[in-house]
Amino acid sequence: MKLLEYQAKAVFEKYGIPIQKGVVVDAVEGIDEKIRGADLRFPIVIKAQVQIGGRGKAGGVKFADTPEEAAKLCGEMLGMDIRGFTAKELLVLEKKDIAKEWYLSIMLDRYSKSPLLIFSPQGGMDIEETARTNPERIAKVPIDPIRGVQDYTITYALDKTGADGQYRDKLKEVVEKLYRMFFDYYTMLVEINPLALDDQGRLVALDGKVEVDDNALPFLPDITAFRDKLQEDPQVIEARNVNFLFIPIEDEGNIAVMSNGSGMLMSCIDLISKKGMKVHAALDLGGGATAERIAEAVRIMLGRPKIDTVFICIFGGITRCDEVAKGAVIAMQKNEAAGKHLILRMEGTNKEEAAKIIAESNLPITVAEGIPNSVDAIYRIKHEKKGA
Ligand code: ADP
Ligand code: MG
Repeated sequence: MKLLEYQAKAVFEKYGIPIQKGVVVDAVEGIDEKIRGADLRFPIVIKAQVQIGGRGKAGGVKFADTPEEAAKLCGEMLGMDIRGFTAKELLVLEKKDIAKEWYLSIMLDRYSKSPLLIFSPQGGMDIEETARTNPERIAKVPIDPIRGVQDYTITYALDKTGADGQYRDKLKEVVEKLYRMFFDYYTMLVEINPLALDDQGRLVALDGKVEVDDNALPFLPDITAFRDKLQEDPQVIEARNVNFLFIPIEDEGNIAVMSNGSGMLMSCIDLISKKGMKVHAALDLGGGATAERIAEAVRIMLGRPKIDTVFICIFGGITRCDEVAKGAVIAMQKNEAAGKHLILRMEGTNKEEAAKIIAESNLPITVAEGIPNSVDAIYRIKHEKKGA
């Protein structure tokens, strides 16, 4: 789950990472009072709260010198679209005099199997440009999870990037706090860009990006409480409410894949992609699906109008094939399923009975053996459709 900037900063604050005071607004009315109530002095900065970076370049970060200008900008920015995300809230803060913009993040690095510290003294909105043209100004330092952040971690990051060594202790303090938060909150990424060095030599987090592992949400009620304010996919919410995991994949795709387990889902998606087709979304059914659950899962999938082909791949275990088949039939008899095709691959208890149920249903359901054959069947069906 990706947090909004002000949510990320609320967590930074818990760890003593310096942030600016600010106020969140979701309406133009009463904006003067809010700004005054928060004791903010002009000039101010107004920032669209969306779960996506690059807001500055997309017109989502604006400056105002007067209350009139602030009200006008807030009116323009509330509801604005930033690459598919709607700004329902804005964060208002004082404009800061910035001497330097640094980049700082910690992410989980699967290659070094450890947290990875990334630092650059040339951060801010052009960090991608820095990565392209001056990669030597970006340091990537794995942090040994047993030793934690050491003096040499920071010294190396500063030396390697040609940054000013006099800030070593200050930077170390921020990194240590961020590192603690990285673990406590089960994050995949914590990022401060820019970590601004102000005119008085203080470091302040002007932006915050935090990505929490969804599987840890049951342990994190404060983060779960943030969810209401996020823009979530309706199918993701619908699926979560009934304990399925819905994963949007490629918008242009029109195939859906459903399975009992994420490994199987990935294998299916790999093989489908290899044949030059695109998967729109995947759904993990978990274990022990009944006919009703299967039908419900297909219904949720078909809530995405782009999907025209649903591939259900079930491999044995506690799921009974006849239940899966019954579920597929119930789903395909519904209105939403008009013009859609279902491919079913099942392995396990009552497989023959399941095949019989499908054969007798006379519905556009194809039963296939194994994943490669199923993928061939999907390919054939899609090409027949195109040809028709
Ligand atoms: P994004 O990364 O989504 O573009 P940021 O929060 O990093 O959004 O803001 C973009 C840029 O706006 C920053 O790099 C910084 O130059 C400027 N900025 C952001 N907050 C402030 C602030 N409080 N005072 C002055 N400048 C700011
Ligand atoms: Mg930023």
